[in-house]
Amino acid sequence: SAKPDPILVADRVRRSFGGLTAVDVEHLEVQRGTVTALIGPNGAGKSTLFNVLTGFDGSDSGSWTFQGGRINGLPGHQVARRGMVRTFQLTKALTRLSVLENMLLAAPGQTGERLLGSFLRWYWSRQEQRNQRQAEELLERFRLTHMRDEIAGSLSGGQRKLLEMARALMVQPSMVMLDEPMAGVNPVLVESLLEHISALRDEGTTILFVEHDMDVIMGISDWIIVLAEGRVIAEGRPDDIRSNQTVIDAYLGT
Ligand code: ADP
Ligand code: MG
Repeated sequence: SAKPDPILVADRVRRSFGGLTAVDVEHLEVQRGTVTALIGPNGAGKSTLFNVLTGFDGSDSGSWTFQGGRINGLPGHQVARRGMVRTFQLTKALTRLSVLENMLLAAPGQTGERLLGSFLRWYWSRQEQRNQRQAEELLERFRLTHMRDEIAGSLSGGQRKLLEMARALMVQPSMVMLDEPMAGVNPVLVESLLEHISALRDEGTTILFVEHDMDVIMGISDWIIVLAEGRVIAEGRPDDIRSNQTVIDAYLGT
């Protein structure tokens, strides 16, 4: 098998809320170019771990690196700039803006460039054209082109999930973290979401995703990490996880 080549490495990550330790991860690695599933019962700490690793929430302790650079302590937008982006379990689309506007707001370089000199202004207008093209390509890919000028608030739950993923891809990330991307998405769109995830992997993007549907997980994942009560209780290839008694017990225990 291939040599390990982790894109994300985390150590001793702890996050508690009052007396509750939501995350207490000793060590976690995500290998570059893989689709890795993060699974576990409700309340296991999956979303909290995403929040902490991507800088959307603080931690009590821990250190983690992305592509070899330390990122713990960085705010979310800086983590995103380094190429690690995430989606939320509950989508964050701006409901009063159009679908296309939502896409363009997610593009790189959206703050403060208006003060620049003429060369840089020219550069940014080229960048904006590129952003526009990319937004349109992504909308096409996620079958949202017909909704492009509608306000995001008029999308179905499933379409919002797709928009959320399309938005994340605007920064051309090296890694995407998807928190329950299929929840509430109709079966046809789930199929196309799965195809998008495979296509992203084929393009070299690393994917870490939270999902509950075992068929989906087993079908697409290269590696599975199992979280329960904030800790990694098992990890391995789909076939190993399927038959892992600790995992079965953790699920049956809830
Ligand atoms: P999962 O995504 O695996 O279902 P979460 O990360 O959402 O789990 O939650 C892990 C635990 O942390 C749960 O017990 C949850 O109630 C608690 N928790 C999450 N966020 C907060 C918060 N902001 N304040 C208090 N408790 C929280
Ligand atoms: Mg969650």
